[in-house]
Amino acid sequence: MATPFAADETAAVVARARAIAVERLAPLAAELDRHHRFPVESFRALADVGLLGVTVPTRWGGLGGEPLTLALSLSEIARACASTAVGASVTNMVAETLCRFGSEELIARFVPRLTSGEAVTGSFCLSEPAAGSDAASLRATAVRDGDDYVLDGTKMWITSGAYSGVFIVMARTAPAAAGHKGISAFVLTPDLPGFGIGKAEEKTGLLGSNTVPITLDGCRVPAANLIGEEGIGFRIAMTALDGGRITIGAMANGIARAALAAVREHLHATPTGPLRTARKVAYGELLARTRAAELLVERAAVLKGAALRGEVARYTREAAMAKLFATENAKAVTTRAVELLGAAGVDRACVVERLMRDARVTTIFEGTSEVQRLVIGREVLRAGG
Ligand SMILES: Cc1cc2nc3c(=O)[nH]c(=O)nc-3n(C[C@H](O)[C@H](O)[C@H](O)COP(=O)(O)OP(=O)(O)OC[C@H]3O[C@@H](n4cnc5c(N)ncnc54)[C@H](O)[C@@H]3O)c2cc1C
Repeated sequence: MATPFAADETAAVVARARAIAVERLAPLAAELDRHHRFPVESFRALADVGLLGVTVPTRWGGLGGEPLTLALSLSEIARACASTAVGASVTNMVAETLCRFGSEELIARFVPRLTSGEAVTGSFCLSEPAAGSDAASLRATAVRDGDDYVLDGTKMWITSGAYSGVFIVMARTAPAAAGHKGISAFVLTPDLPGFGIGKAEEKTGLLGSNTVPITLDGCRVPAANLIGEEGIGFRIAMTALDGGRITIGAMANGIARAALAAVREHLHATPTGPLRTARKVAYGELLARTRAAELLVERAAVLKGAALRGEVARYTREAAMAKLFATENAKAVTTRAVELLGAAGVDRACVVERLMRDARVTTIFEGTSEVQRLVIGREVLRAGG
């Protein structure tokens, strides 16, 4: 991640993502949604062209790309299949987080499994039954015992959890009184004793994405699997989420673009007259808002790249703005697209019906819209603005 990826290299990766999205992912999207099927084969196809480690250095099997390369690629994937995009987004986040905070030994053990597709996907385990927006109140514990840590607790809503081969798990290594400073991050694999995978959640949208609780019941993890040092787990999680918010924003933009394509097709089929004019006006409005969302995501991604090179200090505010605006936009655009198509819009066979359900979930994970507003306000005050 040290040298900027040239613009033409980013364009080539994004073109590859678009080709796979059109040829391999789009034809599966409706079936995955209908049968709640997790597309293992799609993740392998993404891994084959480096799209599960876009920002990971090439020596670990990644593309060595920029955050912008990742964001634009995920938009293309989401345009075809949002369920696949969310799994790809989290896998990239897990691989990037390990490269950023893990030791060489830890990176060598786990990152190539993610970038090669051997692990299928990666999962990120922060949320718990009583710790969602207030992640610092998490209760899972990790107690040192000889050469191991013993983990106990329950993680909720874990994306790709029943399929992933590599998990980043946040747990307390100090009493609750230590607050966020008592949280540490570990790498787990599903074969560890005491690691359990619960029943898949039945969600509104993203039905091809698997979401499960993970139980840790005396789960023994080698001490070498601690990421960084004890007590920095919350910082690791928040750094990962800053990046994750940009990629979820990018994913929301892909969903909005897919809805706009359906509206445009409908517009072409509408005979000339007042209705066509009204639809044209509506389309123009949605397109303008979506382009604004894309620019916010692109700006946040460019800033993240600059921050990784030490050129700027933070991009937390821009990441939160991008996630807030893009996900709320995708929710609004897909809802409006359903209305513009009339009865056809609510037909289960119509793409916008699925897109509306998929978009609905994006304003919730990786921090709800209220949480993004709080983050933006906090960052503005912090900067004295
Ligand atoms: C499909 C899906 C996939 C997910 N994947 C993952 C994953 O892979 N890993 C993971 O760790 N988590 C994951 N999550 C969990 C997700 O991050 C949480 O659902 C989210 O952070 C919100 O937490 P919560 O559901 O507990 O809601 P709560 O925190 O209970 O919030 C409920 C409502 O209260 C509002 N609220 C809460 N606090 C405040 C406040 N201080 N001020 C104003 N309003 C507030 C929220 O905005 C929300 O509207 C996933 C969730 C979903 C739905």
